[in-house]
Amino acid sequence: MKIKVVSNILKANDSIAEKNRQLFKENKLFVINLISSPGAGKTSLLERTIKTLNSKISIGVIEGDIATTRDAERIEKTGARVIQINTNGACHLDSNMVRTALQNFPLNGLDILFIENVGNLVCPANFNLGEDIKAVVLSVTEGDDKPKKYPGIFREAKILIINKTDLLPYTDCSIDKIKKESLEINPDLNIFEVSCRSGEGFDEWCNYIVSLSN
Ligand code: MG
Ligand code: ZN
Repeated sequence: MKIKVVSNILKANDSIAEKNRQLFKENKLFVINLISSPGAGKTSLLERTIKTLNSKISIGVIEGDIATTRDAERIEKTGARVIQINTNGACHLDSNMVRTALQNFPLNGLDILFIENVGNLVCPANFNLGEDIKAVVLSVTEGDDKPKKYPGIFREAKILIINKTDLLPYTDCSIDKIKKESLEINPDLNIFEVSCRSGEGFDEWCNYIVSLSN
């Protein structure tokens, strides 16, 4: 019985996601659903990416959070177009929340749209928002055991961004282990290593984002 309820919810979510996808397509937008646990550095990644690519492409951001507009305020300071969704307790974004936000968020002139999901490595993996790809951010301070513990998101994602590489000497984390175990789950995963503080790895990451906008 419960299984039926869940599958109905996901079915309804998928049909609205399809409408979002059409709208993104009409506006020639490439859309990335950005997922991580709280504190992995999603917003910091967006801030530095937007600042680095300011003169090259136009990036918009839909910010998802349980409460507060703190992340949207940080993005706004970069000059990028941004809108906040507050889920009021819900632990993931769904396609209808994005649909509603899009009513007040013009897409014209944008090349890339990031949707920053609620900080959570679990259920955001199951909810299609109409994005082109999902990207997962994992910071070295979270430990190298996470891919095997949260395989769902590593299976769904096309990109893995390993963040906070500047802190690696202060941890027991092995980036090789993260890479090896996440590629065992998903051999097609495109992996980047960055530090949002030092800027390490940003040339490669930003070149990749520009290539998606074409
Ligand atoms: Mg954030
Ligand atoms: Zn959830």
